[in-house]
Amino acid sequence: MKIYDISMTISESMPVYKGKPSLKPVIETERDFSTSSAHESKLHMNLHSGTHLDMPLHMIPGGKTLETLSLDKVITPCKVFDFTNKDISIGVEDLKKKDIQEDDFILLKSKNSFEDILEGNFIYLDREGSAYLRDKKIKGVGTDSLGIERDQPDHMTHIQLLEAGIIILEGLRLKDIPEGEYTLFAAPIKIHGTEAAPVRAVLIK
Ligand SMILES: [Zn+2]
Repeated sequence: MKIYDISMTISESMPVYKGKPSLKPVIETERDFSTSSAHESKLHMNLHSGTHLDMPLHMIPGGKTLETLSLDKVITPCKVFDFTNKDISIGVEDLKKKDIQEDDFILLKSKNSFEDILEGNFIYLDREGSAYLRDKKIKGVGTDSLGIERDQPDHMTHIQLLEAGIIILEGLRLKDIPEGEYTLFAAPIKIHGTEAAPVRAVLIK
């Protein structure tokens, strides 16, 4: 059995969506051995920083929140597809070349896993691509960008997927992962009433 860690490391200097300062985590030492008998830290972080899962409430008013997520959606067989030949976005013609079936969980590997583009011109999934995945009735889709879409004011890529109950994982690190089939473990931490949560994402071969 081989275990691949496909998660980002949370740190104050990590890349965040479009480089927005408010998205940078702050890790505070609440007490340490200089004043106390124990070391305790506090993390202040937007739930969309680092590797995380989006729930429908992220883009849909009144949408489902994290505590309703069934773990069989995120502990599941999955397929990694290589789109590292793409320079701007992944669309329907790219997806049609891959074996995508109903109930698949797919991960989109792109240049985002290799190049220093996460805070800027990252590769994204376009709205025709997300409509295709919705019509295929997949279970979930993961991306190695910090946002599955970029510069679409109506957020249609997110909305088409979330309305159909398709799980979205963002901020995966897929550099060392060859195209193929794996078992995905991507359980988010359990927070009541939120639209997202950090995930320690792992692939098992
Ligand atoms: Zn998100």
